[in-house]
Amino acid sequence: MSGLIPQRFVEDLLDRIDLAELIGSRITLKKAGGNYKARCPFHDEKTPSFNVRPDKGFYHCFGCGAHGDAISFVREFDGLGFTDAVEELARRAGMEVPYDQSARQEMQQARTLTDALDYASRFYQSALKGQQGEFARDYLKQRGLDDSIIEQYQLGYAPGTGTALFDSASKDLQGPLVETGTVSDKYGRPRDLFRNRVMFPIRNSRGRTIAFGGRTLGDDKAKYINSPESDVFHKSREIYGLYEAKQSIRQLDRLLVVEGYMDVIALAQNGIHFAVATLGTATNQDSLSALLKQVRHLVFCFDGDQAGYRAADKALENALELLTDGLHLQFLMMPDGEDPDTLVRKEGPDAFQERINGATPLSRYLFNRQSEGLDLTLPEDRGELKARVEPLLKKMPRSTLRDAMWHEMLRLCGNNRGDWQNRRQPNGKADTANAGCRNNGLT
Ligand SMILES: [Zn+2]
Repeated sequence: MSGLIPQRFVEDLLDRIDLAELIGSRITLKKAGGNYKARCPFHDEKTPSFNVRPDKGFYHCFGCGAHGDAISFVREFDGLGFTDAVEELARRAGMEVPYDQSARQEMQQARTLTDALDYASRFYQSALKGQQGEFARDYLKQRGLDDSIIEQYQLGYAPGTGTALFDSASKDLQGPLVETGTVSDKYGRPRDLFRNRVMFPIRNSRGRTIAFGGRTLGDDKAKYINSPESDVFHKSREIYGLYEAKQSIRQLDRLLVVEGYMDVIALAQNGIHFAVATLGTATNQDSLSALLKQVRHLVFCFDGDQAGYRAADKALENALELLTDGLHLQFLMMPDGEDPDTLVRKEGPDAFQERINGATPLSRYLFNRQSEGLDLTLPEDRGELKARVEPLLKKMPRSTLRDAMWHEMLRLCGNNRGDWQNRRQPNGKADTANAGCRNNGLT
């Protein structure tokens, strides 16, 4: 929709925005002459190489090359799309965005859909508090959730009768409810999609409801179901719990990526407010990109069983292509049979926080995993390791991290032809014993 906001307005808006004030409202700036300096919000650094030039209307980072104007800053820092970023800046400047006719209609329609979904969310919330919500309340209490968390995540209850939501809605909301799939009209008559379920509203970056997840309280075969995709809900782009995390933590610098709604909420209940869940089936590249737009540091949490490791492998493989310097990815495998929800309740927030802090860096996870079952004292197995790892590393963009991992691969495979290892030996001898390979060199 970016073409539908007149360019002249965008330029006018950029003229009116004080870039230093805007960026200063999100990170700490230090004055340096007519300019400002800061530690870069887009990569990890100790000394400030992020420069803001309010007179020229741009920022530039000499460390990672991040560069742009007020709109790109808001897009990157707040994780917003172009239109939302312009809206945000226009609000700051007290201006109204002059959409053209078709854009206005599109926005109006999206607003109607989120209005209907917000209505449904309020309906489910009040049903949870009412008489029929008793079992749902018991369920949530059993899971250790208190009222403030239930309120923060706006949990609700969808009654078991077939059309409770539809019947309660006014005429002008019924259509949009059907359009978003919250009410199904598959068999020619309306029927609520979610029945006898605990409801988890999924909210966008502005806090509007765009979809739901629902957990059954009965013996329905589908334990969880989600809203279908709609004009306002694109599964792979949305991150459950992100809005709430941002409400709780002003400077969100890392995210713990878990698998389920209940994991996110149980962690928040235990004081860990930076957990989110992706809504796609796996951590695909769209979801990964969406996550990396928010923070530079991700900790992926997976079950410790076979399926969990497979999911972690998949996440790793998808992440490799996106791995530039300054990104920090870690893996946290749960003990077998546990998930974050059960584990944090069992061992408490401090122990869980310690697990997060000790999560395995991506590079180590990769080498550990790929050398499983190999005996690196054997030349054959060293060859096998190289055959497994090399194609993975080749997916990575050129970076210091890639070089370092490449060297690690050569070290593990006992390839001493490169002079790299010799340089590291103070006595000038090659590391022929290669103790690293004997025990995998891994911990
Ligand atoms: Zn930077």
